[in-house]
Amino acid sequence: MARYTESVCRLCRREGTKLFLKGMRCYSKKCAFERRPSPPGQHGVRRRKMGEYGIQLREKQKVRRVYSVLERQFHNYFVEAGNLDGVTGENLLRFLETRLDNVVFRLGFATSRAQARQLVSHGHFAVNGVPTDIPSYELKPGDRIEVRESHREREPFKTAKETLRSHQAPEWLSIEPARLAGSVLSLPRRDQMPLDLNEQLVVEYYSR
Ligand code: SF4
Repeated sequence: MARYTESVCRLCRREGTKLFLKGMRCYSKKCAFERRPSPPGQHGVRRRKMGEYGIQLREKQKVRRVYSVLERQFHNYFVEAGNLDGVTGENLLRFLETRLDNVVFRLGFATSRAQARQLVSHGHFAVNGVPTDIPSYELKPGDRIEVRESHREREPFKTAKETLRSHQAPEWLSIEPARLAGSVLSLPRRDQMPLDLNEQLVVEYYSR
């Protein structure tokens, strides 16, 4: 499957905000956006004034890039979100938040969604006891995610128990550090998804 392979820091500069795509580096002085916040490219410093369409497009791209989802899949989420009861934008964010890779990140097993995606694809996790290596796997309340028993002594998880003990998971998730596991308690409400994103602009973009 096609994936974005250039420096992800360019995406932050392109969107004009920190998207926190590189784990701990994003909180350090090495953050490329902190050092050079202008858009990438030869004419980056010349920012053009954006119209309504441009603002909606950029917000859509921002949400897509935060969760590292390709356009087609993102649009599918939007269509599914519109078919559900409730607010479409909130439903969309909920689909993104309950992906397995995002939950692995939120539980504290990884410092970025990119790292979480890699851990999932490498087959380190099981959902309800079944090995699952699909990053987009949609979790539901009651699902239990754990590091597979045979993988617990492997490098990425050697110090995970300590890290998880001090990790603050969102209210809709619970962590069991000693068992390298976590559960989905409920679907997240909008106020439980602390995201600096305007999902309504995404809805407007697709509703043109
Ligand atoms: Fe964005 Fe993180 Fe790179 Fe900074 S370090 S530009 S926040 S991805």
